[in-house]
Amino acid sequence: MDRGEMTVPQEEMARQAEFAAMVRALPHRPGSYHVVTYGCQMNAHDSEKIAGMLEEMGMVASEKREDADFVIFNTCCVRENAERRALGNVTWLKEVRKQKPDMVIAVCGCMIQEPGMAETILKKYKFVDLAFGTANLHKLPEMLYETLNAGKQTVNVEDRDVIAEGLPVRRLRQDAAYLTVMYGCDNFCSYCIVPYVRGRERSRDPETILREAEELAASGVKEIMLLGQNVNSYGKGLPGNPTFAGLLEKLDGIGIPRIRFMTSHPKDLSDDLIDVMAKGKHILPQFHLPVQSGNNEILKKMNRHYTREQYLDRVSRLRSAIPGIGLSTDIIISFPGETEAQFEDTMSLVREVKFDSAFTFIYSPRTGTKAAEMEGIIPDEVSTERIQRLISLQEQLQQETLKRFIGQEEEILVEGLSRRSRLAVSGKGRHAVSVTVEGTEQDIGQIMKCRITNLKNNTLAGERIPGGKA
Ligand code: SF4
Repeated sequence: MDRGEMTVPQEEMARQAEFAAMVRALPHRPGSYHVVTYGCQMNAHDSEKIAGMLEEMGMVASEKREDADFVIFNTCCVRENAERRALGNVTWLKEVRKQKPDMVIAVCGCMIQEPGMAETILKKYKFVDLAFGTANLHKLPEMLYETLNAGKQTVNVEDRDVIAEGLPVRRLRQDAAYLTVMYGCDNFCSYCIVPYVRGRERSRDPETILREAEELAASGVKEIMLLGQNVNSYGKGLPGNPTFAGLLEKLDGIGIPRIRFMTSHPKDLSDDLIDVMAKGKHILPQFHLPVQSGNNEILKKMNRHYTREQYLDRVSRLRSAIPGIGLSTDIIISFPGETEAQFEDTMSLVREVKFDSAFTFIYSPRTGTKAAEMEGIIPDEVSTERIQRLISLQEQLQQETLKRFIGQEEEILVEGLSRRSRLAVSGKGRHAVSVTVEGTEQDIGQIMKCRITNLKNNTLAGERIPGGKA
């Protein structure tokens, strides 16, 4: 399929808009909705699109799922426990529906795209009214119309590898916005289910992305998060071979105060991208660079296409081009066959890099991936002991590395009231580290300048710089 064929035609999007109007006109349509989201930022953004479409169909958001007329679970399948949790919550709602028989229940997202899951839903979860995959999102108006009219289960997981432009979005935050630059992944890391459920890599047209960013800037957005499973390989298959570095440079010129992006694959992190970041005015000095393991043999079995040495080279290039850059990572321990010595290689890499934060996971097999067929499953007690060692090492190093901010000026985008005090607010600094500062509700959504004074439990505390709104 070439890229032109991937983009959902305008006529189809117009047809869906007609279905949305038809749902809106139905006398028995749901009046309220609640979206339950699992997983990553891509899913969170999909949920914003779902909410946007449902509001176009005349529904209003309900704070609690049990009060809503239409409840939709946007699922994740990257880890088995996320899947179990989602199915458990779906089953719980079946009980709620006994008191609320008109409630409509839908399940969507990555889990539904897993081989065999649609059939399972049809057979085992008969109370689910609607199930659809990530690539069928734009067809929600049509699917919902059919479900409400025919009163029977609708399951749709047919489409793959599409790009649907122009969907309405109900953003979770007014000050910050997600902006997808590419979908899918071609990397097939041996433990990962994403390429099977999110399809092949496909990049959005750069002009469309820039237009969307300009609209976000005009609406007063202060931060954008560029999204993609592997943003570094943006542009593959597009005419003129645009690159992520080139796109980022243009986005930097729009003037949105803060630009972040995720996720990046170390093998695709180019010098050009580092140079653009170093020169950029609005690109935040932070980088999430998943390493997964510090051992070359394990990296090979993971099909990651880089070595420990190459990873460390990227880190040192980033640090010399952008001094003080905030680095975070993802780590999987207990990959099949991982020996104590191989695990120790990961520990030594963590000691060497000194990440500002690390998301650590025990390997969990996903059916359909190469790693799920590998031998050498690590016993639970070994994994538990290893992850505790890794977490405690990271916490100790984090305590040291975050000290570099003490006494420095930082600029935070205030996200909300602090959980510990109603007289304090918290938000992320430019290096993606959370900072708590004295403040009130009026500060939420504002960029505030502060001086870091203290570090407690890996959270920075700061003092407001008078008149320091950026
Ligand atoms: S890069 Fe690897 S881990 Fe990331 S989504 Fe693609 S296959 Fe999964």
